[in-house]
Amino acid sequence: MITKTLPVLVLGAMVTMTGSSLAHRWGSGSDDLTPPLVSYAEDVRSMRGDFGTAAPVLRGVYNQLNLWPAGQTLMVCFYDGDSELKALFVATAQKWLQGTSLKADFGLAPNFRTCGSNVSDIRVTFLQKGYWSYIGTDSLHAEVVKKGASLNIETNGLPFRSLNLPWIAEAITHEFGHALGLLHEHQSPASRCGDEFDWGKITNFAKDKWGWTAEEVRTNFAPYVDAPRLRTTPYDKNSVMHYALADWMFKRGKKSRCYVSEPRRMSKTDRSTVVNAYPPTLALQSKELEKRAATISGVMNQLRLNTRQLAVVGAGLGAKLRHYKRKIHLEFALTKESMVRGADVGSMNPCEGEVAKLAQAPTVSCGVAPDGTGLVLEVDP
Ligand SMILES: [Zn+2]
Repeated sequence: MITKTLPVLVLGAMVTMTGSSLAHRWGSGSDDLTPPLVSYAEDVRSMRGDFGTAAPVLRGVYNQLNLWPAGQTLMVCFYDGDSELKALFVATAQKWLQGTSLKADFGLAPNFRTCGSNVSDIRVTFLQKGYWSYIGTDSLHAEVVKKGASLNIETNGLPFRSLNLPWIAEAITHEFGHALGLLHEHQSPASRCGDEFDWGKITNFAKDKWGWTAEEVRTNFAPYVDAPRLRTTPYDKNSVMHYALADWMFKRGKKSRCYVSEPRRMSKTDRSTVVNAYPPTLALQSKELEKRAATISGVMNQLRLNTRQLAVVGAGLGAKLRHYKRKIHLEFALTKESMVRGADVGSMNPCEGEVAKLAQAPTVSCGVAPDGTGLVLEVDP
C-alpha cells in the first residue's frame, strides 16, 4: 500500500519542538517528513477515493498484519556507522527479542553486515534525517526496498563519543520496536490523546510557520495521533512506543495525560506485546493473527463497508500475509451471523478479478462473502 504521489508535508519540523528528551522525533529542524510518514500519507490519500473518511482507519488496520513469521531469523544490515555505534544498535535491538521466537542476524562484530545487493529484512542507516522505521514487514515492500534504508537513527555524522547515548539507545529501542511491527502507544484508542491536543495552538503554529490552513493541520497531523493502533491492552504511558510531544501542544500542558518528557524504556506491556506477536510456536502466532483479525473485524463492522470495499481491504490485508510460508486461515466476520465463519475461500467471491488468488501475493487467496458480511484470507504456500 505504498504509492507514488508525494504530498508536501512539513510535519517533521513541528515535532522537533519536543524539548530536551525525546521518546521520538520526526526530522530535525528541517522540512523533511520521514519516509514512513510520507508513505503513510500517500497511502491514506490514495485510499480516500475508495473509502473517504474511513481511509486513515483502514490504513491503521493494514498495519495489524505486518508481523514477521514467528521463528524467523531477521537479517539486519548497516549502510554506515562506526563499529561502536553498530555494536550499541545490536545490543539495544537484541533486548526486544528476549522471550520471543524471533532471531536477528546482524553479521559478525565488529563490522557487522554491510547492506549490499542481497536485500536484508531490516536495513539501518545513521545518516538520514530523523528517527524512523517502517512497520514490520513493510520494510520489505518493493517501494521501500528501492529506496534502501528501512530504519534511520539520526547522528548527524557525529563521532560515537559525542553522541547522547541514552537518547540514541532509546531511539534505537523505539525504532526497532516499529521494525518488529509495534505501533505508537499514543494512538491507542484508550489513550484518547487526540482530545488532549490544543488544536488552536497547533493550527496557529503551523499557519505561521508553513502557511497551513486549519484543515491541512487536521489532515496532516490528526491521522498520526488518532489512527487506530487497535492494540487491545490498556493505554500504557510508559511504553517506549509513546511519543514525547512538546508540552505547548497539549491543552493542559505538562499535566496532560498524554505528555511524557523523560526518555522511555521498554515497558511491561511492550514486552508482552512483542512476546505475543512472536510466541514460541507457529500455532500460537496463528492464534495471535486470528485475534487481530477479530479486532480488525470489529473496526470494519463500524465502517459499514460494501462488498466492493471489502474486496479492496481483503486484497490489501492479503498482501500482508505473503511472507508466511505456512498454512493460515483468517476469517473477518463483520456480523455475528457472518457467512464467513467456518467457510473456505472457495465459497466466496474473489477479492480481485476472476480468481481468489491475489496477483500481488500468489500464495494468498482472498474471498468476500456475497452477502457482504465478511472476508476470508488463506495462505497456502
Ligand atoms: Zn515512532
